[in-house]
Amino acid sequence: MDLDDAFKNKLAELLTSDQIIFNAPMCEQTTFKIGGAADVLIFPSSIAEVAAVIKLANAFKVHYTILGNGSNVLVLDKGIRGAVIKFSDKFFGKIRVDGEKIIADAGATLKSVSNFAAENSLSGLEFAVGIPGSIGGAIYMNAGAYGGEMKNIVAKVTAISPAGEIVSFNADELNLGYRQSIFQQNGCVICEVELNLTHGNFDEIKSQMADFTYRRESKQPLEFPSAGSTFKRPQGYFAGTLIDKTGLKGLKVGGAMVSEKHAGFVVNAGNATAADVLNLIEEVRRRVMEVHGVTLTPEVRIIGE
Ligand SMILES: Cc1cc2nc3c(=O)[nH]c(=O)nc-3n(C[C@H](O)[C@H](O)[C@H](O)COP(=O)(O)OP(=O)(O)OC[C@H]3O[C@@H](n4cnc5c(N)ncnc54)[C@H](O)[C@@H]3O)c2cc1C
Repeated sequence: MDLDDAFKNKLAELLTSDQIIFNAPMCEQTTFKIGGAADVLIFPSSIAEVAAVIKLANAFKVHYTILGNGSNVLVLDKGIRGAVIKFSDKFFGKIRVDGEKIIADAGATLKSVSNFAAENSLSGLEFAVGIPGSIGGAIYMNAGAYGGEMKNIVAKVTAISPAGEIVSFNADELNLGYRQSIFQQNGCVICEVELNLTHGNFDEIKSQMADFTYRRESKQPLEFPSAGSTFKRPQGYFAGTLIDKTGLKGLKVGGAMVSEKHAGFVVNAGNATAADVLNLIEEVRRRVMEVHGVTLTPEVRIIGE
């Protein structure tokens, strides 16, 4: 889509030039290293800028897509029309502590926030150290691992509504469930996250984090680009075990492959296109249904065209 010149000019008045990239390849913004270009990629650096950009997009009827660290998305090969508003650690990643609370900007990575918690001897976020996402994306997905999930520690979220207004949500208003949150329905954009942690022992927190990191590195195919677990956990099963039992480890379509190390991961084994990944996902779903009668649903969010 050709963006309106007036929209581009207004954007340039709101932000600095390093916060705006036109025709930005999304393969550079996703952990899958896949995806065509977005018409414009925007890096806001404050909640006021997020509100202003959303109001501007509304005024010019420019569609916008929200991106965190890009670790749970598959961007399609023709890219994303309109604007991508990216919450990055660099521009939107401040973290502060207040007693047993941590308040983080949505772009702060889970790695930075969990390390910050550890440095302040605060416990509760150890599970998240190896999840390669932003704290905003982690709330949106209710990310979890090793028995922990965001649901257990989030106290409050400040967001921008689709109309561009500041709104806040208490924990009980977030509808957090397995890979579920209210933000998947209400279109609000998460800007700040407040976490309730508890004072703990620095050495114990660090050693728990090291143990989780070791377990992750030994089980997951981190040597290949991916978006983590491709499918949600079907009730009563593990997606990876079902796929493995169906004999699909190593199955390839183009550059996309079911990991040999962990069957729950589709990896980019070399120059995979989004079409390769989608075709492989369909083939895996078809064969698992045929052999086990179980429906697999992608956890990865598919965006773009
Ligand atoms: C190697 C690997 C291992 C992984 N392990 C785990 C794991 O153990 N547990 C787990 O739960 N996940 C895991 N994941 C998946 C992923 O890291 C999480 O889902 C993470 O929380 C996504 O955050 P993100 O910032 O990358 O979100 P993105 O991928 O950028 O976005 C995901 C969705 O969230 C929305 N979104 C992002 N930020 C915001 C915001 N600020 N406001 C509103 N919407 C927003 C996007 O629009 C999109 O729909 C793994 C991924 C990889 C690559």
